[in-house]
Formats: sequence, structure tokens, C-alpha cells
Amino acid sequence: MTRTAISAVWDERFLEYDFGADHPFSERSRGLGVRLFEWLTERPNAPGVEWVREVEPASRELLATFHEGEYLDLVDRASRLGGRVPLDAGDTPSFPGCFESAARIVAGAQIALRSVREHHRPAFHPAGGLHHAHPDRASGFCIFNDVALAVGRAVADGLRVAYIDIDAHHGDGVMYGFYGSGRVLDIDFHQDGRTLFPGTGFPEEVGSGDGSGLKVNLPLPPYAGDEAILPLFRRIVPPLLDWFRPEVIVLQHGVDGHAGDALARLQYTPEAYEEIVRTLLAFARERAEGRLLVTGGGGYRPESVSRVLARAGGLLTGIDLPPPTARLPEEWRYEYFRTVDESAPVHWGGPDQRIPSRWRHEDEASLVLELEQALGRSFPSSASAP
Ligand SMILES: [Zn+2]
Repeated sequence: MTRTAISAVWDERFLEYDFGADHPFSERSRGLGVRLFEWLTERPNAPGVEWVREVEPASRELLATFHEGEYLDLVDRASRLGGRVPLDAGDTPSFPGCFESAARIVAGAQIALRSVREHHRPAFHPAGGLHHAHPDRASGFCIFNDVALAVGRAVADGLRVAYIDIDAHHGDGVMYGFYGSGRVLDIDFHQDGRTLFPGTGFPEEVGSGDGSGLKVNLPLPPYAGDEAILPLFRRIVPPLLDWFRPEVIVLQHGVDGHAGDALARLQYTPEAYEEIVRTLLAFARERAEGRLLVTGGGGYRPESVSRVLARAGGLLTGIDLPPPTARLPEEWRYEYFRTVDESAPVHWGGPDQRIPSRWRHEDEASLVLELEQALGRSFPSSASAP
């Protein structure tokens, strides 16, 4: 077993990023994932995790490196109100203290990035991954874009960043935020924007100027699962990373592509998430001096979010993960029940009901062809690769 220490960031005040009990987004699911991750890594002989548990909100100066001043003023005013006002045209309301809460999650990503750079080892920020926020507006439950601000920090320091986003929703705030940047390779797997918010992320969106050819969008139809994402990931991601030679890799590890999610309609299993994390971890170790930052993201089914995030963090430490048939710890199950008021899953894996996927080999061929034409490069299938 590889015994790799990692940094992990979790301040209980991240739970204050809370749109209310009737809102689908909740950091509580991530908090349950953290508890389970702690259980995994606090057993005897488990690899060490360096925790950061006190995170102060990011400064306005830092936030202004991505967000516009007028928008920061708007959030600041809304944050001081007793009630809620809309921060976008959709489902992202303000709440008292929202400025500080969102800024604290941003600071968590900065701390994680700094740790990755200083220690050359992975960092885990499960509360982060708020990839929809734009410079001038909130969007999709995201007030401030912690991942864009982390990518921006690395870019400002002259580093090449590979940003990989496996959330079910297209990471529009990050992609458009760095659309013209030649230092950001952005690869985004998501449910087709014609069927899901935010409605963007098509193969022909390849970047502009210096960033041209560096934005890679892989929209998948509803009900696609591992049989779609894994062959595409294997075919597209390693060659692009080999070519781009990133100095930092950021993985937005949203879990709303998991089968049974309440908002999206993809059907990934834990095995797909694990293969992706393992692949990026191996690449980071071999080619990027271990600099891998993994954040959370979306995810609207607490039992998937908590277990999958805990396993992602566990993989980063190099621990042997419990098999899917292993029972979850009873004390954790009790906390789950108290937190989400529904019965906790019993085992590390399943049960998941899946709808038969209509994804065919021809669908992979046509999506790859679209990408090849848009990007002007080829992605041979492994069968035909030299
Ligand atoms: Zn999402």
C-alpha cells in the first residue's frame, strides 16, 4: 500500500453555505462524506491526512481576481439582509451571511491549491467545486467560483493547469472564465446541455485566441453511464494531458452524474469515479509532481455523494478501499439518519436502480469525430493506436 499523506480541508462552518431546508444543494452531504473519509483514514496504520479545519473567508481582493466589483457589492448587500433575495434568474438565493460563507469555500480551495504546490501531493476540498458562478453573477447554486479562483491563482503564477470536470452539469463558469487562456486545458464531461442546465458545453466550443483548442466538451445523453464516460475518458484525457503537460491538475468531482441523482439523469457508478481519480492521481505523480487538487461539486442524493466523496479522498491517500459489500460503520449510519432524516445506506456500494442505457459504440465514434473536427487533432481508439 502506498502511504501518501494528503491535505484535506474541512471547516464545520462550510455547512453555513445553506440555501435552506427545501433547497436541493446542501453541504451536509459533503459533511457526511468527510465523516466517512475520517473513519477510513483514522484507522490504525492508515496514511496520514493533514487537516485544515480553520478557514477564514477569502478577502475581497482575492475574490475580485475573478468576480466583478459590482457583483461583489450585490452579494455583500444581500448577505447583510435578514431574508433571501435572488442572486440570479434561477435558484440561487442569498441568505444571511452568504458572502462570508461563499468566501470561506473559496479560501478552502486556495489553501488546498497552496498545499498541492508546496508539498507536491494531492489535496482534497470536498466542500468546493462551485463551478457555475460567473464573474458578474451567481448561477446554479454557486455564489463565488472557488475552482475558477484556484485555477486563476495558478495561472497568475505562470502555471499550466488542466481542469477536469466530471460534474453532471457543464462547468460553464470555469470554461468561459478561461476561454481565451492558453494556460488552461479544460476537459468537461457532462449531461448534454440540450437536456440539462446550464445548456452549454458543446464540442464546437473549443476556446478562443490562445485558448483555442484547449476547451474540450463531452456532452453525454441522458441515461449514459460508465459504458459511455470510461471509454471516452481513456481515449481523450491521457493523450491531452501528455501533450499539454499541466503543472497542476484540478478535478471537479461533482457526484450528480451518479445513478439515481435527484437532478441529473446520468448513471455513473462508484467504479467510474474511482477509475478517474486513480488515473489522474497516477498521472499527477508521474508527470506533474503530485500536484492534484480534488474538489467536490454537485450531487443531490446524499447516500451517493457521501460515500463516493469519502472513497475519492481515500484513494488520494493510497488506502485500500473497503469492498462495495462491506458494511458502513454504524455510528456513521446513525449520524446520516440524524442529518438527512432518511435511513442510511447499509453497505459501501449500491443499491442502485439503473435504466438501460441507449449509448452505443456508434455514439462514441460520432462524438469523437465531432471533437476531432472541432479541435483539429485525432483521438485514435485504443484498438487502432500504435
Ligand atoms: Zn452539477
